[in-house]
Amino acid sequence: MNVVSAAGSRVLDLLFPPACALCGAACEGHLCDACAASVRPRDPRLCCRVCGKTLIPDDRAAGSLEPLCRRCRTEPPAFALARSAATFHGPMGTLVHKLKYAKATWLAGTVARFMAQCFRDAYGAERVDLVCPVPLHPAKELARGYNQAALLAAALGERLSLPARADLLLRVRDTATQTRMDADERRVNVRGAFAAAPGAAARLAGKTVLLVDDVMTTGATFGACAAVLRDAGAVRVLALSAARD
Ligand SMILES: [Zn+2]
Ligand SMILES: [Zn+2]
Repeated sequence: MNVVSAAGSRVLDLLFPPACALCGAACEGHLCDACAASVRPRDPRLCCRVCGKTLIPDDRAAGSLEPLCRRCRTEPPAFALARSAATFHGPMGTLVHKLKYAKATWLAGTVARFMAQCFRDAYGAERVDLVCPVPLHPAKELARGYNQAALLAAALGERLSLPARADLLLRVRDTATQTRMDADERRVNVRGAFAAAPGAAARLAGKTVLLVDDVMTTGATFGACAAVLRDAGAVRVLALSAARD
């Protein structure tokens, strides 16, 4: 940082002292130590080995002792594995909500810190070539001013020293909000919503892609994007979200 911008940032710190995005306490960065410690990783022993869904008795009753949910057992998704840094119902949900709906774009780096830890825990042994965000429909991105998944992918790529590319996938159809839909309705909703960008196939051939989004619910969006990436030549798609329902 040069002298002028360093002085400028000190002035900004005086005008707007750095405060924790969750509790408002004065702190370095955007999250105090206590709030950072309250973001707890999900326990992989309680989750589906493939999609990371928290297993319910119905999943366990569906078959063998292997920790697989009913859906992954019957219809394996197009992604190889999916993981999420934390549950949506807690501090991570608040951070993601601010990032997504309150224009708190400066929180992308803070959220990506937890995603990087999740990546190392779950995918540390994987050879990943590039990071790819789930795209927003252009109309939605224009209205919001940014794609929060692209901000997360960029911040995560920086932390993991991996290239992040937001120019591989296109959202060609705007989709209805999925909040009230079940898993089957979501899969129909995102069918045909994504396509490979022109020229993406050359960049994806033979590659392992880390697909990134802010929230994962049923995995329908990740599944639809992973199918497009694999059709375009990617050999393996791993998915990672900040938060999970
Ligand atoms: Zn705090
Ligand atoms: Zn599963």
